[in-house]
Amino acid sequence: MTNKFMVPTVCPKCSGVMEEGLNFEKDLFQLSDDYVIEEKERVREYWQKTLDAVDKFLGRESVGKRRVGPRLAVVTFRCVDCGYLESYAPPAG
Ligand SMILES: [Zn+2]
Repeated sequence: MTNKFMVPTVCPKCSGVMEEGLNFEKDLFQLSDDYVIEEKERVREYWQKTLDAVDKFLGRESVGKRRVGPRLAVVTFRCVDCGYLESYAPPAG
């Protein structure tokens, strides 16, 4: 599979510079600016394709969603000028 994901570098709203951000477990305000956020401390958001599904178990019917396909990590970029956030779930691989 060809990965067509391109890192956005220009803001679609104001043509400002886009920068990649992180979510992580530690409280941001407790960290010094010199602190290095290790890979294992990063918290990833994921996107999962779902389909409507009905399941019957022990006579009880569950109506909801069922997972389909891979779980994709969400990457969010922010415009340094206007603060616009743009999220992607690039194809895996
Ligand atoms: Zn912008």
